[in-house]
Amino acid sequence: MGSGASVSEGSRPERPEAEPEPEPEPEPEPEPEPEPEPEPEPEPEPARPFTGRSNDTLQAEEEAAPPGSHIVEIQSLKSDAQTEEEEEGATSVLSRAVTETVAEGEQVSLDFESFLHNDGTLYSCFHHHGDRVYVDESQNLVPFPKEWHGQGRFLSTNHEGSGPPQAGSELREDDRTASIYIQGRGTVMTYMFEERLNVCRFWDPQSGVWLLLPLQWEVDVDFVKARVQRVTSTLPGLVDQKEITAALRQCNYDPEEVISVYLTMFGEILLQASPSGDHGYTDLNSFRALLERDRLIEGLRLQLQTKEKEVDHLFQRNNFLAREVRNLSDVVQHLNQKLAEQEADQQEARERIRSHLSRRVPAGPPTRPVTKPAVDPDQLRRVSRVTRELNISNKQLLSTVHQAMADMENQLEQLKDAAGTLARVEQEAAGEVEELQSLYRREAVERRSLYNKLLELQGNIRVFCRCRSSSASSSCMERTDEQEVVVVQKGNRKKFQFDKVYSQSSSQQEVFAGTLPVITSCVDGYNVCILAYGQTGSGKTYTMMGSKENPGVNIRSIQELLRICADKEKVSYTLKISMLEIYNDTLNDLLTKGTSVALDIRVRGKSVSVPGLTQILVRTEADILSVMETGEKNRKIASTNMNIQSSRSHLVVSLEVEGSDEVSGLTSRGTLTLCDLAGSERISKTEAEGQRLVEAAAINKSLTALGQVFSALKCNAFHIPFRNSKLTHLLQPCLSGDAKCCVFVNVSPDVKDVVETLSTLQFGSSIRQVSLGKATQNVSPAKTK
Ligand code: ADP
Ligand code: MG
Repeated sequence: MGSGASVSEGSRPERPEAEPEPEPEPEPEPEPEPEPEPEPEPEPEPARPFTGRSNDTLQAEEEAAPPGSHIVEIQSLKSDAQTEEEEEGATSVLSRAVTETVAEGEQVSLDFESFLHNDGTLYSCFHHHGDRVYVDESQNLVPFPKEWHGQGRFLSTNHEGSGPPQAGSELREDDRTASIYIQGRGTVMTYMFEERLNVCRFWDPQSGVWLLLPLQWEVDVDFVKARVQRVTSTLPGLVDQKEITAALRQCNYDPEEVISVYLTMFGEILLQASPSGDHGYTDLNSFRALLERDRLIEGLRLQLQTKEKEVDHLFQRNNFLAREVRNLSDVVQHLNQKLAEQEADQQEARERIRSHLSRRVPAGPPTRPVTKPAVDPDQLRRVSRVTRELNISNKQLLSTVHQAMADMENQLEQLKDAAGTLARVEQEAAGEVEELQSLYRREAVERRSLYNKLLELQGNIRVFCRCRSSSASSSCMERTDEQEVVVVQKGNRKKFQFDKVYSQSSSQQEVFAGTLPVITSCVDGYNVCILAYGQTGSGKTYTMMGSKENPGVNIRSIQELLRICADKEKVSYTLKISMLEIYNDTLNDLLTKGTSVALDIRVRGKSVSVPGLTQILVRTEADILSVMETGEKNRKIASTNMNIQSSRSHLVVSLEVEGSDEVSGLTSRGTLTLCDLAGSERISKTEAEGQRLVEAAAINKSLTALGQVFSALKCNAFHIPFRNSKLTHLLQPCLSGDAKCCVFVNVSPDVKDVVETLSTLQFGSSIRQVSLGKATQNVSPAKTK
């Protein structure tokens, strides 16, 4: 609390300015008059953070203090100076304790009421000296203006969020507001309602209801136009605006989803503008088929080229072998020639031997020594042997060459066959890869939608009850089964049912396991929120943060997300963490390096952001621990500086998970928001001073707003009042649309805490009916035995 804590001498009992809205004025024609609620004067119902309850809960409540009311007990002190200030109209609650004239020692309890002004602002009011006062935005006490009675209503049982909005009175202008001219009706106001799916309706003053806007008119609504433009700027080939609008309706007005659907269906053709200005679907489909055929032909052409190269190579080898064969034939011929020459020589030698021998027979007495024959017969025999051998080897060589040539031809034939088979196999493999890819894409989409359906069936909001462990011998609680708990108060037994009840002995791991199915959908691009609600000391921080040795949901869930992200090989993820504190409806960054400044919330369409909030990239478990430690340390320093207890502020840890799928090319963006809420209890009598009063008013306001949001969700109301507090405004994306939410209601089993325990369980079981909204047969209201 810094600059807002000014003394309020000048403040007037006028309505403070509504949040400034930068959007242009729409022209709702005519402005329907809100019906003022009957004023519950002079004794208004005490305010509660959440007011839905069944009749059978009343008995227990009557004996308890009003469930969820934040009661401040006032010290009996009063000064003259203050009386003067009050007469001037306002009191700074920071400078002074709220006082009440009472008898010494008597304690007067103060019940908060919640007043919802028609401009959408929620105020925490209470009675002071018999007059009603409220806490304004500068945290001053201001008398409740009489004229406001006709300008809003006090929130009491069974009316929040039910029925159509009071003639648009709860609607605040934002970029969802627009107007449109309809022939025969003039200009009417439109508003993009956030229901399970967004639906565009227009206000029909004649029938007094919001009617569905037909497609051909919806195209002209700014909210839609901007999204259609987003689609056409990415896909200039898509020109039919009505077509895009219809697709946007199907995709909950998410242009990115429309783009990815069209890209998956029709491929890249839509990335270029069509020269003719339009594509028919048959054109698109046949173009897509042509593209695919082109791709196929290109692949085949490449394969053909490779095969041709192989054949060339084989031809060359063939030529080489043919040359070899020719060379070898030459050698053979040459050898044959040699052989013939040898044979001729041999013949001649024989002739000479024969003639020589015949001449020797008639010869006279060997008076003269006979001259030796010119050729040595041994030599001749050798020659003839060599010749024979040569003849044989020549024949062998010839047959070897013939054999080699035949083998080579065979091999050539086999190679050709193998090349053909290879080409066929390649073609089949390419087809299979293509098929597998599209199967993968379909599978991913299907898995996501099935998982989502499963969770939807189980309810988008799940409520778990956790009972803190206690050393006290007597306990006011009994866990009768996995889903039921009984509270005993002065002999009365009251049953409450939840999606799961965790007993005193349940471990951190068991408690975390309950949230696991919801947490994992964050990786698929959903917004997930886990809240811990309950009185101080009931184990909210233990459940969310836990201890170093035994960490809670915060650390375990981020560890689990890191693990899932690492397991998905085909998707690359980035995880960014931020941590902030909401104290007195002011947001403080807990991870900033410099001095923390109050942050604002910015809304664009469905997305809510906090400009300037520090985000830190986390990759490992060590990163998470170090970030959490920094946040905790900063929170401690800030709370010491401002003298506040951590239990009086909401702690919000937010993890942004962005994934991009390498195979399908799709990107997803989910957030996991982990919220340790401020204590929901009455504040103690010794603490009813200025700052504590403002804190209590702020906590009452934000928890009431949270209850209102759940209440509106329960009724499927057109307008969910997210903007009534910073807490609900910040949590908007995780409490609407496809978001999934787990709420822990933490309770103490101690007998002295029974009143707060009842109030907390009442809050929890009311929320639970939200998740079971449609499946009425599953609703099992709590009953007294
Ligand atoms: P809160 O955040 O609601 O004010 P805490 O988480 O600080 O409550 O719990 C109060 C005390 O009770 C702490 O000391 C905490 O360690 C202890 N505690 C709470 N729940 C459990 C539990 N389930 N098991 C053991 N100790 C617990
Ligand atoms: Mg705590």
